[in-house]
Amino acid sequence: MDVLKFGGTSVGSAATIRQVVEIISDSSNPKIVVLSAMSGVTNLLVGLHQAAIIQDHDAIEKIMEALTQKHHQAIDELFVDSGRNNILETINADLEAIYAITQSPLKRTSYSELVTYGETLLTRIFSEYLTQQGQQNILLDAKTFMHVGTTENPDIARVSERIDTQLKQFVHNTLFITQGFVCLDEEGNISTLKRGGSDFSATIIGAAINADAVQIWTDIDGLHNNDPRYVEETRPIEHLTYNEAAELAYFGAKILHPQTVAPVIDRDIPVWLKNTFDPQAPGTKISNEHHNQGLKAISAKDGITAIKIRSNRMLGAHGFLKTIFEIFDRHKTSIDMITTSEVAISLTIDDDKNLKAIVTELSVIAELTVEQEHSIICIVGENLIADHESYKAFGLLNNLPVRMISYGGSNNNISLLVPSKDKIAALQFLNAQLFKLQGAEA
Ligand code: ASP
Ligand code: MG
Repeated sequence: MDVLKFGGTSVGSAATIRQVVEIISDSSNPKIVVLSAMSGVTNLLVGLHQAAIIQDHDAIEKIMEALTQKHHQAIDELFVDSGRNNILETINADLEAIYAITQSPLKRTSYSELVTYGETLLTRIFSEYLTQQGQQNILLDAKTFMHVGTTENPDIARVSERIDTQLKQFVHNTLFITQGFVCLDEEGNISTLKRGGSDFSATIIGAAINADAVQIWTDIDGLHNNDPRYVEETRPIEHLTYNEAAELAYFGAKILHPQTVAPVIDRDIPVWLKNTFDPQAPGTKISNEHHNQGLKAISAKDGITAIKIRSNRMLGAHGFLKTIFEIFDRHKTSIDMITTSEVAISLTIDDDKNLKAIVTELSVIAELTVEQEHSIICIVGENLIADHESYKAFGLLNNLPVRMISYGGSNNNISLLVPSKDKIAALQFLNAQLFKLQGAEA
């Protein structure tokens, strides 16, 4: 069985939904299709939740209007006759349920209930459309099996047991549709896999059913060797190892949710990144296969805060780092990059929710400098540090104010911290230095 996940732009309109149907009809392998909400819908629902908190009735009406318009238009373009009336009725009932949530006292679970409706609406439309096209399919409610517990460490065994129970009821069926993004927490309450989490849904489900492959379909032909938004002439990478893909996703490659590959690594299930709008393009295959070593790709992650912690107590003393790390630990904030000298340590965090509290505690034991709006530029490739070209990355020091460098933490990664205003220049410089040669050979 295969798992195919389609993102928001792939199901963003009637035209693209038709394209998706063509792709899933292309092979007769049994499959589970995991779908996002139509593009823009989750953002609308997040806005709706905010409007509900402050009871901004104008905003609530406006957002309800936009949600209705978007789904009605897709239905108008996809359905004919009585089929159209049936699905309209179902979708209108959902829209009423959404509205009702905004009008009743909000609960802890209201956010998740609201924002996951995008997936509910779209999967209903999609499944009905397939049926109208004569393609038998089963719509599975992800809430019946995505009992992951925690998102950090999803309980694959439990999901597996639950999804098996569902699938066993439909042994003669080969096409299943379900929602990405939604899950249940430890108490069984509705929750989400965080924004962009449908990719993660696909690999959790892939691991749970021990799929042959997981395919993630987006609007770009695989993971590129640099950020195509800022650098010209980037190209898709054909093969990545799980570790390379994980580092790239974690350090900013927008195409993949950072936790995506974790569930499938040990099970050796390949993950394909494919382009809905160019299905013939090879895309990127992420697996355990080792193709070529050395430099593969560069990505950048914004919104980084650098903290320099300086104290003479560090001089020749032990236990100072422990004290510092414990402060971050107490505030549930993870550290990305670290560099040290004899009397100072610089580190970065990307979640600055608890920055104020952390700074207050750190100031008691050290002098601090806090700099926000930085970006980590991450250069990735298996055994990168043995690549004869990799030294050229350090030419960046001659051009831009590099705030920190991390080299040798793993063999597969060099990270550089620069002010975000210099990010694009840094990406372009590194591209010219590191990839121009490879490009000429290709
Ligand atoms: N629809 C959700 C979002 O926009 C989940 C996803 O698309 O992956 O974040
Ligand atoms: Mg995505």
